[in-house]
Amino acid sequence: MANNEDQFKKVISHAKEYGYIFGSSEIYDGLSAVYDYGQQGVELKNNIREYWWRSMVYMHQNIVGIDAAILMHPTTWKASGHVDAFNDPLIDNKDSKKRYRADVLVEDHAEKLENKAKKEIAKAKKRFGDAFDEEQFVTTNPRVLKYRAEKQEILDRMARLLEEEDLAGVKALIEELGIADPVSGSRNWTEVRQFNLMFGTKLGASAESATDLYLRPETAQGIFVNFLNVQKTGRMKIPFGIAQTGKAFRNEIVARQFIFRMREFEQMEMQFFVRPGEEMKWYEYWKETRLNWHLSLGLGEENYRFHDHEKVAHYANAATDIEFNFPFGFKELEGIHSRTDFDLKAHEEYSGKKLQFFDPEMNESYVPYVVETSIGLDRMFLAILSTSLQDETLEDGSVRTVLRLPAILAPVKAAVLPLVKKDGLPEIAHDIIDDLKWDFNVIYDEKDAVGRRYRRQDAAGTPFCITVDHQTKEDQTVTLRNRDTMEQQRIPMSEVAKHIQNSISYKEWLT
Ligand code: ATP
Repeated sequence: MANNEDQFKKVISHAKEYGYIFGSSEIYDGLSAVYDYGQQGVELKNNIREYWWRSMVYMHQNIVGIDAAILMHPTTWKASGHVDAFNDPLIDNKDSKKRYRADVLVEDHAEKLENKAKKEIAKAKKRFGDAFDEEQFVTTNPRVLKYRAEKQEILDRMARLLEEEDLAGVKALIEELGIADPVSGSRNWTEVRQFNLMFGTKLGASAESATDLYLRPETAQGIFVNFLNVQKTGRMKIPFGIAQTGKAFRNEIVARQFIFRMREFEQMEMQFFVRPGEEMKWYEYWKETRLNWHLSLGLGEENYRFHDHEKVAHYANAATDIEFNFPFGFKELEGIHSRTDFDLKAHEEYSGKKLQFFDPEMNESYVPYVVETSIGLDRMFLAILSTSLQDETLEDGSVRTVLRLPAILAPVKAAVLPLVKKDGLPEIAHDIIDDLKWDFNVIYDEKDAVGRRYRRQDAAGTPFCITVDHQTKEDQTVTLRNRDTMEQQRIPMSEVAKHIQNSISYKEWLT
């Protein structure tokens, strides 16, 4: 088994080689943390978006979608708190001139203590063999307890300092812990400063009359400002939800890990409006519903876990992350937050408009509470791509690279291959494509021996190959080859569409 770092490198190079993801403006050496989706990538991305949209909007009679603009009135971001509080603490190293997130430096330091604890556990496991009781060891071993207590103390101190906005205290903590620049080893740090993550831009032609705007850092606010429009025109009754997918922009200080942390990315968010006091019930409902959506794709239950927040943001009264086992470890894939009435109340205050719902059953008006589900489309893409890419040793000892994408999300559903480039076989293959193309994205491939073409499609993630040979001319049958099992089946040409359809039915996948 390749180690995780190797696997991650492989995912990145495979993504490029097979037309999934390219660096942005690569001919000019790229733009840091900005990426383009290629011919395969755009299809996979569209399919993930559609899978989410259908599960939210089509599967719930009380959820509708919108598509708000990226540019919004600047007061939106005052009300939401982003102008004042959407900051990361940054610190520069004076020698290396590298910039870091101060909190990440401290977290990485704390993680080293956790790794020391893990080493102790692994050592003991080896020593005691089958008789090892991990639970007992981690709760009694003095070294493990010491490392973990130190780690927790550091994290708690940092959380307190950030909460109190004590940036000098954060710098003092970095110095006290002796944290050095991971690149240069230097401990020559600047002060810690707050850095707002929003991208600014201008609206208007002349410099004097231009208005300062921001590229939206999240899609959620487009939903809140349209709450009343949708509620009234859609005659929506509480509880109901508004879903939206779209681009968001954050000037991340440290952008790394490929498409995990980008400066331009896409979110899929749904805000669910509920009666005050009923939010915890809906919060639990959405935790379960969203996890089930993830599990429906079959990437492996063991790859997901909830991380409940102990400290929640000022606008929330409960929050959890669905974390995924990326090649670099478990990290946030989706957030589920009980946001109270914070956003609508703030927009009421700043706009002077009432953003309330008249509840006929209670015979009163109120500002609804909100439960939010928010997932990064690009992170979902990375979760799927990195888990699906596998090297498989076959019976004859050879290794095949296969991209086991869930069939319903695969960019191309089938490749149609004439066994040879003559004898009328290409014409039949094109006829098959002309029949299938109305319902599926299918491609034609005639280059190289058929075995090599199969391997190419395996690596590209295509679930089916349909091979036309001389027998096809006699009895109108073709070979249907399955990417995952490599099984080949002789079936009538007329049944090909049905086979593909059966493997990509939303009803089967989503239930
Ligand atoms: P993180 O802690 O990783 O920065 P966050 O808690 O700031 O993420 P949210 O503001 O809750 O993220 O955004 C919701 C979702 O949007 C995240 O779960 C993630 O999937 C996605 N997301 C956020 N920032 C980025 C980014 N820079 N690049 C790609 N996806 C992102």
